[in-house]
Amino acid sequence: MDSLVRNYLDQYGVSDATRRFLAKPQKMFIDGAWVDSANGATFDIFEPSTGGLVTRAPSGTADDLDRAVRAARRQFDGGEWRRLKPLERERLLHRLAYLIETHGDELAEIEAIDMGKSVTFAREIDIQGTVDTFRYFAGWPSKLHGRTVEPSIPGNYLAYTRKEPLGVVAAIVPWNFPLQTMAWKVAAALAAGCTVIVKPAELTSLSTLRFAELVEEAGFPDGVVNIVTGKGSVIGAAMSAHPGINKVTFTGSTPVGQEVGRTAVGNLKHVTLELGGKSPVLVLDDADLASAARAVANGVFFNSGQVCDAGTRVYVQRSVHDAFLDELIAVTRTLKLAPGLDRGCYIGPMVSAQQKKVVAGYIEAGRREGAKLVHGGATPEGPGHFIEPAIFAHCTPDMSIVREEIFGPVLVTSPFDTLEEAVSLANDTPFGLAAAIYSNDLARVHTLIPQLHAGSVYVNAHSTIDPSMPFGGFKDSGFGKDLGPEQLDYLMETKAVWITLP
Ligand code: NAP
Ligand code: MG
Repeated sequence: MDSLVRNYLDQYGVSDATRRFLAKPQKMFIDGAWVDSANGATFDIFEPSTGGLVTRAPSGTADDLDRAVRAARRQFDGGEWRRLKPLERERLLHRLAYLIETHGDELAEIEAIDMGKSVTFAREIDIQGTVDTFRYFAGWPSKLHGRTVEPSIPGNYLAYTRKEPLGVVAAIVPWNFPLQTMAWKVAAALAAGCTVIVKPAELTSLSTLRFAELVEEAGFPDGVVNIVTGKGSVIGAAMSAHPGINKVTFTGSTPVGQEVGRTAVGNLKHVTLELGGKSPVLVLDDADLASAARAVANGVFFNSGQVCDAGTRVYVQRSVHDAFLDELIAVTRTLKLAPGLDRGCYIGPMVSAQQKKVVAGYIEAGRREGAKLVHGGATPEGPGHFIEPAIFAHCTPDMSIVREEIFGPVLVTSPFDTLEEAVSLANDTPFGLAAAIYSNDLARVHTLIPQLHAGSVYVNAHSTIDPSMPFGGFKDSGFGKDLGPEQLDYLMETKAVWITLP
């Protein structure tokens, strides 16, 4: 750990538990053992508010992945895990949820230090969301069942279906909600009876490694949950290709998702892809402008804009356009730009110097393409990868800031006149992750909902997420669902059983 980070942890009074975790050598968790990479390679882990080095973690190899697959297979193909009764799986999942909750403050600090996000939001959203996800899925194992049917064909049959777990599931996780996204994938897979191998993003592997310690403490049999850290191009690519893995569940960018999907389908794996977005927001002329402005600002600037379903394209009905923009700018001014460990932080740094460069490049492109920067957009010199939230007005559909996912605190706005125009602007994108409507006119809201090409539609809110509701995109935002009972369908096979009766 370099002195920049040490001073930062001192300044904000980071807990002893977190310091102890950060001080010890990081290892991968494979088959219940803590191991280095097969070739001894490591990668550096940085803290985004200072840019300083925190620690190192093993950079896994294809051989490491192979060991994890063998362990996960052994448990799945008739191992101890496979023989557990549903209520025993529930008990383990509940115990894990309890341990995560007990260590919630420490996990929130680790997340804030590794990813740069607000420690307050990390505790309230990421960690609480992780606990809730494990609790929700803990209730499912005893409630998974097929159905008995009465066929109409000639003859006498007992016909029924069985729900069976898919097998070994590989989870490839991005850096924006590291622990929570991992939880979405792992909790459901374990509830279904699968075994799992997780590859966290290199930028944010620490909370997942701490999580693995809690998996061990909870008493899961060795090899049921494995964590292989390292490069996406090595571990992620090897996961998509490995014949011993039955499913890859991927959250990340559209181009990498396409590659994962191509490889996975090439060897007939199941695949779920949760990809990028450029989600539209429609503010209708009857909306409560003050509360809409708060929700819209939160919907795009939360997590410093590094949110897949962020409502980044804001279309406002012309008669209220200027008044709404004034409200939006006023709310945005109140959002505190600060280091992640500052308890009042709303906008933390970008996750990396590279991400800051990409976002700053888009702000520059917006200016060049003729959009009007009406608020923010400054990129202070380091330390830390900070960018002020930016609001562009008078944007046109051809601009790159309107078409491409930026994954930073940048919002584009333009006016519309009719609802038909609003729908056509909203759907003018290859993505389809989410959409939001601000209005209290029920007839107009219900007319709009079916017309929007999006996996989630939020009304007078943004990014409301709960484990009981499915999440996942249409179009280039991917396919398959995380969360809700729907996710379990993507983690189980249905077997049709026919028994001839006399
Ligand atoms: P990314 O570059 O696609 O990375 C996502 C994960 O894939 C990381 O763990 C990465 O590992 C790994 N990876 C990289 N190359 C790979 C390869 N060739 N094969 C297999 N895996 C590979 O995305 P990101 O930049 O980290 O995350 C931001 C993106 O995720 C945005 O586009 C965002 O919209 C999307 N996202 C979507 C959702 C959703 O639910 N729809 C949620 C959150 C984020 P390394 O980084 O360690 O190399
Ligand atoms: Mg980091």
